[in-house]
Amino acid sequence: MKTPEQLAFDIINYRRTLAINARDTLLHELRSDEEFRILEPKRDLLEFEVGRLRAFKKDYLSEQSQLKKTKAELKNCLSRLGKTESVFFPHYSCKICNDTGIIDLVNNATGIVEHSNCDCIKREIINVARSEFNAINSDICDFRVLLETLKNTKADELLTGKLRKIYLFLSDYSRNYKELPYNIIVIIGTPGTGKTTAVSVFTNKVMVDGGCPLMITANDLNVRFLKYHIAPFKDKQSIFEPLIEADILIVDDLGIEPKYENVTLPYLRELLDYRFKKPIIFTTNLSRESLSALYDKSIVSRLNDKDRSHFLLLADSDLRGRHGIKQISH
Ligand SMILES: [Zn+2]
Repeated sequence: MKTPEQLAFDIINYRRTLAINARDTLLHELRSDEEFRILEPKRDLLEFEVGRLRAFKKDYLSEQSQLKKTKAELKNCLSRLGKTESVFFPHYSCKICNDTGIIDLVNNATGIVEHSNCDCIKREIINVARSEFNAINSDICDFRVLLETLKNTKADELLTGKLRKIYLFLSDYSRNYKELPYNIIVIIGTPGTGKTTAVSVFTNKVMVDGGCPLMITANDLNVRFLKYHIAPFKDKQSIFEPLIEADILIVDDLGIEPKYENVTLPYLRELLDYRFKKPIIFTTNLSRESLSALYDKSIVSRLNDKDRSHFLLLADSDLRGRHGIKQISH
């Protein structure tokens, strides 16, 4: 399974190939003009000569002046053909990284050049993910943006305080999820409290940092369980595999899914066991008591495992509706 980052790089590389091909096609067309066909290689040869003579510390003034003249002739020739010298360069979509997806940054402290993903890759990762994982409802990938939004709201301080805590927790968790001891996070809050946005931003953040999360609604998860249940043996693995392979699985709205007999509860239990060492985040509208009533003991005991799970309680009231901070749920 390719990670969202690998898919994003595939897209950017494809874009780069297209830009180079378009440049090559245009040059090929221009070479049907006789003057251009003569001037272009003449310029290349002179450029090579100037470089060679300079490298051997020889006199290259005459070649340089010829080169200048040829370039001017080429420019005029292109202008006659309705073009400019830009025809020699591919027109990359991203001018920062030339569609390589990578930028070189000089570390001021050490002076060492470090590679990092260009912003266009980050955007593409989220685009890919949003078309693949339909549960993501935000294109924000930075918790600072959400925290900033909280500052501008007039909502009750107690409520925004809880949201702030959750944002900070998730922001931290997106960096440390591999090291932390607990691997089941349950976020409890009534509808409209911004849980889905918080975990969407979390998912985006993990992807942008190179991880491979999977965000799915509890309903879609349940449908996947059902598909797995009725699929022929040879197809079963491909249905369940992404749920196990994802670095982090985010299940939105646990509790709203219908409970199919011999499907929903046994496969959820199986999933929790398969992902014993890998994190899962659940959001739910249900209280801990309601969760206990809805799921059987074996699942509840896994969710309540002190060594493994961590509960985050959001405000009980409907933050978005009652307190008017609509901007938190894009
Ligand atoms: Zn770029």
